[in-house]
Amino acid sequence: MEQKCLVCGLPQEQPPWGEDGKTPSFAICACCGTEFGYHDATAKAIKAQRDRWLSSGAKWFEPRKKQSELLWKSMSLEFLRSSLALKMVVLMLWKH
Ligand SMILES: [Zn+2]
Repeated sequence: MEQKCLVCGLPQEQPPWGEDGKTPSFAICACCGTEFGYHDATAKAIKAQRDRWLSSGAKWFEPRKKQSELLWKSMSLEFLRSSLALKMVVLMLWKH
């Protein structure tokens, strides 16, 4: 099931539209503040919500979550820069 916010693309802990894709959780996206099942009910609503979010500066709805996201990103970057990751990429390329 799709586990990303349809408006901003942030991965969600729970599928925004439930396991069956038909029962919205009505949870709020930590990034754009979209209420699943309401702001993303139709393609038109998604676009309107995205435009609203972008025109307001694409701010994070919950800045605290942004920090953990940033930490996560910097950790994965750290990993990508490490020689282990480089070796893995070399091995992958070599196999193909
Ligand atoms: Zn979102």
